[in-house]
Amino acid sequence: MANALIAIEERLYAQQGVLAGDVWHEWEVDARVEETEDVATFLLRPADDTPAPDFRPGQYVSVQVELADGARQIRQYSLSRAPGSRLRSITVKRVRGQGSPDGEVSRHLHEHIRVGDLLRVSVPYGDLVLDHLDAPLLLASAGIGCTPVLAMLEHLAQEGHQGPVTVVHGDRSPADHALRTDHVRLAEKLPDAEAHFWYEVPEAGQPANRTGLVDLDGITVRPGTHAYLCGPLPFMRAVRAQLLEAGVRPADVHYEVFGPDLWLASS
Ligand SMILES: Cc1cc2nc3c(=O)[nH]c(=O)nc-3n(C[C@H](O)[C@H](O)[C@H](O)COP(=O)(O)OP(=O)(O)OC[C@H]3O[C@@H](n4cnc5c(N)ncnc54)[C@H](O)[C@@H]3O)c2cc1C
Repeated sequence: MANALIAIEERLYAQQGVLAGDVWHEWEVDARVEETEDVATFLLRPADDTPAPDFRPGQYVSVQVELADGARQIRQYSLSRAPGSRLRSITVKRVRGQGSPDGEVSRHLHEHIRVGDLLRVSVPYGDLVLDHLDAPLLLASAGIGCTPVLAMLEHLAQEGHQGPVTVVHGDRSPADHALRTDHVRLAEKLPDAEAHFWYEVPEAGQPANRTGLVDLDGITVRPGTHAYLCGPLPFMRAVRAQLLEAGVRPADVHYEVFGPDLWLASS
């Protein structure tokens, strides 16, 4: 199974014109930031003089680690900061097994990877990229699905984006909301943006209509909106349904699933 997935990935890189020998490079952990109890950001810089490959906000890299038993495992992590610096940033949620084993790679990264360690990281890849900057944008995420959205928001802020942007995010609680300060700060930098956050476990002073799961009822969805969604499948199904009800064209809802894409198969 793992080999089949690796073969598929190599074919995808080949389609992008990336030679097999160019896919993987060593990156050194330059800094590690504990974002929440279960989420850490790893800032990476090339371990040699290889120029850092360019990427588009929303794209991800594959990270290859060697586990304690010698097995090599590969997982994908979205780049959580905008292009424009030699550093790359991934923000990883530790997957805790509730009744089943802990997630192998996220646990390894959290428990073993520190400043100065090397990680084997692929060139960037992925189709969830901001392509419709003339349209009203809606950037919706839940949980650790905020990572590509943060890169998009930072990019829009850096570029001085003037168009309307609606930011929507749901999380268990403010304390669980990784990159929360940046999420708020970057939305505030945009001249025509509004941000809405929902928490299942609310904080003091939070309006009642922002308690619970993300609900677009009452949020203005402008005509011609292009929506970018990233989060768990139930979240994306619910938000997509509300967007279609609000008149967004199915083709204008762009999404990324942090795992096998079972959306179409199971809907
Ligand atoms: C395009 C893309 C971008 C992504 N971006 C991010 C990101 O920015 N940040 C982020 O944190 N994640 C991201 N992910 C998810 C990430 O790639 C991993 O899937 C995630 O870190 C879990 O990997 P893991 O090795 O820790 O868990 P795994 O070992 O793969 O385990 C996953 C789940 O399976 C369960 N499990 C494992 N073994 C068993 C078993 N024997 N029986 C029953 N259950 C079992 C575990 O309990 C766990 O719940 C992204 C994924 C994709 C596809």
